[in-house]
Formats: sequence, C-alpha cells, structure tokens
Amino acid sequence: MSFVPPGSGRPGDPATADTPVAHDRAEVAELAGDAGTTGELAARESVCRACPRLVAWREEVARVRRRAFADEVYWGRPVPGWGADEPRVLIVGLAPAAHGGNRTGRIFTGDRSGDWLFASLYRTGLAVQPTSVRVDDGQRLNATRMMAVVRCAPPANKPTPEERDTCRPWLDRELELAGPGVRAIVALGGFAWQAVWPALREAGYGLPAVRPKFGHGAEAEIAYDGAPVHLIGCYHPSQQNTFTGRVTERMLDDVFARAAALARVSVRE
Ligand code: SF4
Repeated sequence: MSFVPPGSGRPGDPATADTPVAHDRAEVAELAGDAGTTGELAARESVCRACPRLVAWREEVARVRRRAFADEVYWGRPVPGWGADEPRVLIVGLAPAAHGGNRTGRIFTGDRSGDWLFASLYRTGLAVQPTSVRVDDGQRLNATRMMAVVRCAPPANKPTPEERDTCRPWLDRELELAGPGVRAIVALGGFAWQAVWPALREAGYGLPAVRPKFGHGAEAEIAYDGAPVHLIGCYHPSQQNTFTGRVTERMLDDVFARAAALARVSVRE
C-alpha cells in the first residue's frame, strides 16, 4: 500500500480503521460539520478522498518516493491541522509539501520551508524546539495551531479552485473549533491570505467589507465574539523566497513575535 493505513499505529495518526471517509464535496461538508472536537476533525480530514486528482498525486508520490527517503513509508494522506486544541495563535499555510508533510504526516514537518518556519517559531516562543523533522520528535507548539487551506499535497504546489473549495469545510470547522481564544492569525502567502477570508466569515468572525491587500506584515483587524483578532500576512518561507532573500529570518521573527505579543504567548508556557 502506498500510504499509511488508518489505524495502523503510526505515531500521530488520529484515525482508526473505522473513521468515516469523505468521497466528495457533500460528504466533506457533512463530516466536517458534525465533528465535535479537533481530534475527531483531524481524524476525518486524514482519511478524506474527495479530490480524485490530489488523492492520485499524494499516493503516487508516496509510492515513488524521493531517493533520500526511499526507506521510509510515506504518510500519503491528507495532513490535518496540528497543535494546541485551544490556540491563541493560528498559522494558515497553502498545502502540505509532497516530500514534507505528505511524507511525515505533520504539517510543515520534514521540508526546507518547515526548517525556516519552526526555527522562527522557536525563537519567538511559539514552538518548544527549533526543528520539526518527524511526528515523534518531541516538537510541540505553545498555544498555537497550524493548518493548511488544502490538506493534500498538490502537483506543483498548485491546487485548483475546485479543490480549494472542496477542502474548505475542513478549514471552516477547524476555525470554529479553535474557539474564542484566538487573537492572531498568520497567513503564510497570498493564497492563504485570500482563502482564509471566506472561511473566517463562515466561522463567525466579523470582517471589514474590503479585504486588505496581502503583504509581509500586512494586518487586518477582525473580531470574534466582540474580541479583537489580528490577521497578519507573512511571505511564505519557500525555498525560492529564502534563497533570494525575499524572506529573511528577521522578517519571519518580526511577524511571529508580533503574533505572540498579541496573543500573550509566553516562552515558558
Ligand atoms: S484536498 Fe481536502 S477535500 Fe480534497 S481530498 Fe484532500 S483533504 Fe479531502
């Protein structure tokens, strides 16, 4: 089998062999809508098969593998949201990487973007370790949860609009379940900035009529249940952006330090 079977005992697998599987958009909406906890939601996300192109791609990547990881069993399934159950900071990315999250089963774990991201989260107190390489590496997030807009690795890192919309109910429900404690939401890249906007509305956030333009450090003040929440833009720490200097360690630290301060996350939590 070219992916980890649900319930096989792999560390970090939230699903069992009995976890219900969504096969189309309507089933995603139904199973996301009545998931009662983040754990139940993660389990259902992790077995979803609603997008035929992405299911085929993630499993093909897991079957062929990259030479450096030829001895590993790739996750080969959707990568669910991960982190604190009652977060004060949310980090929203585009989609898992083919040989990163799609291999390890944890978002941003095991690829170069994740190396930059977790190093910054550690420096700013949002993660307990500077690296994130495997699901059983001891990494934890402080009052922070991270998720992708599209939960399966897409070819060329480009999901279609239809795939983005099919996956939306998972994001909508995760934002609802994150609860009223969220004070800062960091969108990694313009795609996440745009895609999270309607999901925030669906989850009950109060938004300005016009979405502000995306940029590094751009902020939109939104609200949840009358409390202020800041949506913060952050350039994606992709290899292209970090190689060219478009994103630096300092730039990432500025964004995550701002999020930590807004959410009053202490390094000692
Ligand atoms: S992208 Fe989302 S909706 Fe599509 S198969 Fe993956 S988890 Fe399911």
